[in-house]
Amino acid sequence: MPDLDSYEKTMEVLNKYDFHFKKKYGQNFLINPHILEDIAEGAEISEYDTVTEIGPGIGALTQHLAEAAGRVICIELDDRLVPILHDTLSGYDNVTIINDDVLEVDFEKLFEQEKITGSVKFVANLPYYITTPIILGLLQKDIPFDSITVMVQREVAERMQAKPGTPEYGALTLAVEFYTEPEILFTVKPENFIPRPKVESAVITLHRKELTDEEKAIQGPLFKTVRAAFNQRRKTLVNAIYNAGISDLSKQEMENAMWNSCITTTWRAEVLSLKDYIRLAEVLKVK
Ligand code: SAM
Repeated sequence: MPDLDSYEKTMEVLNKYDFHFKKKYGQNFLINPHILEDIAEGAEISEYDTVTEIGPGIGALTQHLAEAAGRVICIELDDRLVPILHDTLSGYDNVTIINDDVLEVDFEKLFEQEKITGSVKFVANLPYYITTPIILGLLQKDIPFDSITVMVQREVAERMQAKPGTPEYGALTLAVEFYTEPEILFTVKPENFIPRPKVESAVITLHRKELTDEEKAIQGPLFKTVRAAFNQRRKTLVNAIYNAGISDLSKQEMENAMWNSCITTTWRAEVLSLKDYIRLAEVLKVK
């Protein structure tokens, strides 16, 4: 049974190990049992699933995940937490603890080593300082997973569902739309964590879409085009993409190609929809 789900229990563990939070690791631990349960339930985990948890902390969410999943693999950067996790998760024989930086993990290799063949679900209360690189990395590296259920800053959850033309719209929005069906599950107030973050949080699930062969073929050029456009978002589209050197077309040929496919060359990055970006990558013959 999970036993880490209160402020008192969490403090007991932290005091036992003389553990002090490191702000640079984005350490805000959840202390509300209902929220831990709601995250595990929202991720729709079954005994057939392997859950990969990013940043288990002292294992409060891990315990709930281990109750529901066939296996849990957790990846924690802070080596001071490893002996704590071995202690708090000692009652579970389906948990593997890996001390590593999630941004450095080769998941394909890891899943092969751990002999994981079935469905994989990522679940995390993410360290907020690297939310975007973690999510973009999971989406774009062709990692086999069914869904990602994560706690993020509320504004980041909203950015994932932003509409073209709004300031929140960007590369993250487009990657989430291309690869997944996003669903915001609920929001969480700062008082449910220690230490308290300054902002509200939200739990979002990204359900993986099956890509068509055409989508698989265009994904590389598409995200090169998106990155080029947003890296120079103050510039016009044609200039931003020409400067990035991702197409062999001359600037004049680019302007003609855009004109012929009804994309105005002076538009800026945030105006184009996903469909526009796919068309743009195709007509500009981005490599
Ligand atoms: N899961 C715990 C909970 O919900 O209470 C802790 C969540 S806390 C927001 C984020 C966790 O991610 C911390 O344990 C932190 O040490 C870990 N972390 C930070 N950067 C990481 C990285 N690059 N790779 C893996 N874990 C990381």
